[in-house]
Amino acid sequence: MPITPFKNDMPTDWGKSENREALNKNLEYVRTEFGKEYPLIIGGKEVSKENKLASYNPASHHEVIGYVSQAGKEDIEEAITAAKKAHEGWGAITFLERARYLFKAAKIMERRKPELVAWQIYEAGKNWAEADGEINEAIDFLEMYARKAIELEQGENLVTIPGIENHLEYKPLGVGAVISPWNFPLAIVTGMTVSAIVTGNTVLLKPASLTPIVAAKFMEIMHEAGVPDGVINYIPGSSREIGDDLVTHRDINFISFTGSMEAGLHIDELAHKRIPNQRWVKRVVAEMGGKNGIVVDESADLDAAADGIVTSAFGYQGQKCSAGSRAIIHESVYNEMVDKIVERTKKLHVGPGTENNPIGPVIDDKAFKNINEYIEIGKEEGKLAFGGNSDNTEGYYITPTIFKDVAPGSRIMKEEIFGPVLAICKASSVEEGIDVYNDTQFGLTGALYTNNREQISYARRKMECGNLFLNGKCTGALVGIQPFGGYYMSGTGEKTGTLEYLLHFVQAKTIAENF
Ligand code: GLU
Repeated sequence: MPITPFKNDMPTDWGKSENREALNKNLEYVRTEFGKEYPLIIGGKEVSKENKLASYNPASHHEVIGYVSQAGKEDIEEAITAAKKAHEGWGAITFLERARYLFKAAKIMERRKPELVAWQIYEAGKNWAEADGEINEAIDFLEMYARKAIELEQGENLVTIPGIENHLEYKPLGVGAVISPWNFPLAIVTGMTVSAIVTGNTVLLKPASLTPIVAAKFMEIMHEAGVPDGVINYIPGSSREIGDDLVTHRDINFISFTGSMEAGLHIDELAHKRIPNQRWVKRVVAEMGGKNGIVVDESADLDAAADGIVTSAFGYQGQKCSAGSRAIIHESVYNEMVDKIVERTKKLHVGPGTENNPIGPVIDDKAFKNINEYIEIGKEEGKLAFGGNSDNTEGYYITPTIFKDVAPGSRIMKEEIFGPVLAICKASSVEEGIDVYNDTQFGLTGALYTNNREQISYARRKMECGNLFLNGKCTGALVGIQPFGGYYMSGTGEKTGTLEYLLHFVQAKTIAENF
């Protein structure tokens, strides 16, 4: 049967009472699951460790979501052995056969959506729409990578010559490590893992220590879809304890990483150190940070620009690498824009995601401290226009915070904060604004609001980022619609959801048979 064309999964309509009821039921159900233990999964076997780490609810940090076994060095060895063994069969079947597991997993995810939304709300501190969007994105990755992998089945069309039959086909790399972040604990875990396995590799999945239980739910889904034992090995653990061993292991042929620039660069450096008797140059696919910004021209629709700025800065508390943490505004509309941004931000209620508050908690104590330190820096570098308060008695809450009159080149204009902090600065022209925008190490997302076609052409050429949005917010790139991935220190530049992305996990073999 032909495969239907890709279609993005649709967001849940929360206006419908049956959807709200389903979520509320699942919020109650998931609560009854709190405190359970999650073992490692190696070669399909559950491995319970004495050393367990609690995963907490950031909205109510005395509440334990569950206890997660922590892998040690010996578990890495075991998992690599299991992954190598599983690779013998998994690497030998067709792309189409592997793609079918992804199609099945997409259906299971769809069925479990309200439950997965509930887990996200509790473990990652998301509100309904943010949590739901993640499930949509995870399903999209499954559906898209399955289809793209099927395209790889054909190999490459080669020029024919008499007497020789030539063929180029794609082979997996072998065993790899997937090291995933906490901010998209389902979507990014899914995207990174299934892109690596659908191409025939087997993996060790090390989820972020702050959100390992959502990753355990992903494991359940892949198991139910029938993915054979050992294809995905679940090895949560401390980066300090096992991270370097995992990355430098002789039998780990690739590392797929999403997270901070510091961690990404560390992995990249380690991965390329020579190993005695090396048989492989490790590939590193890394998606790192961003210091994204929105430039506003005097001709722009100012209400649309203010909406875009507020959503990009404060969605999921600014904890997206795509977050728009800078607004660079033309001087002739500057005051009016600041008022509009503050006015909208004032309406964002802070509270738990269970009640669907627009602003939830930040992820943990460390993030809470770090963001507060940046707020102090902001007070030196700009004028506090709104917010600046925080309270961690129950959850890690920080009010959305806006600094205006921040000078280009100051720290809060250049450094990634990963929290609900927006820096606003003035520019005398779009050209100057774009120069300010470009003045960071990063190049992930950016936006320009203008009604001037020349400025649009200028931004297309000059704004240095992997994802440019014109007259739109700079977060929430959709699979298949806006392939995601940045320039410069934002990562190695791959675009998620594409055929090119899958090519990072295969090697080509050209076969010429003479007759
Ligand atoms: N893809 C997400 C977006 O477009 C961001 C991913 C991330 O934060 O790592 O908002």
